[in-house]
Amino acid sequence: MDKLIDGFHKFREGYYKNNETMLKALAAKGQAPRAIVIACSDARMEPAIIFGTAPGDIFMVRNVANLVPPYSPDGDFHGTSAALEFAILVLNVKQIIVMGHALCGGIGAMVRGTQISGDDFVSAWMKIAAPARERALAISKGDLNAAQTLAEKEGIKTSIANLMTFPWIKSRVESGDVAVHGIYFDLAIATLYHLQDSGEFAAV
Ligand SMILES: [Zn+2]
Repeated sequence: MDKLIDGFHKFREGYYKNNETMLKALAAKGQAPRAIVIACSDARMEPAIIFGTAPGDIFMVRNVANLVPPYSPDGDFHGTSAALEFAILVLNVKQIIVMGHALCGGIGAMVRGTQISGDDFVSAWMKIAAPARERALAISKGDLNAAQTLAEKEGIKTSIANLMTFPWIKSRVESGDVAVHGIYFDLAIATLYHLQDSGEFAAV
């Protein structure tokens, strides 16, 4: 905690002072982000640093393995769906970016079938990516490291397919009002891949 408080003091004296006009305008006018990013909670993933964005640019959602669940308005507690609803219907965000990454612990555990003890939530959450797991295991033929990389990428496609089950996303994508992107980041080699219409991830 001390490190965080020290960091905050440095932020106030440095970044805040250097960007005071912009930050005060953001506080006064409210947010108008152009994109919503769904990224993994993995501590090594920092989309704002990776993309060089400023406060106000990105409406950020982070969860285990950057997954989007299917549309299921059942009165349960749906954090990611609530964030999407707010971003699309209230903030009129025009870009939805699902950002996966290499060496994802959640995807790795799912591929290998490992479970944390007392697992009440993680395994249930990871079921969203079950179709990605099946496809990855079928293609990789027993190579679990290859299966993990494949599942990380297939999971992005599964989440994009699930985005399209939200009626207010589907209609906006079909009318060209909202665009959906899949992004895959590999920290070890500092490479970003963009999902193409062909289904391939191309380095950018
Ligand atoms: Zn991850």
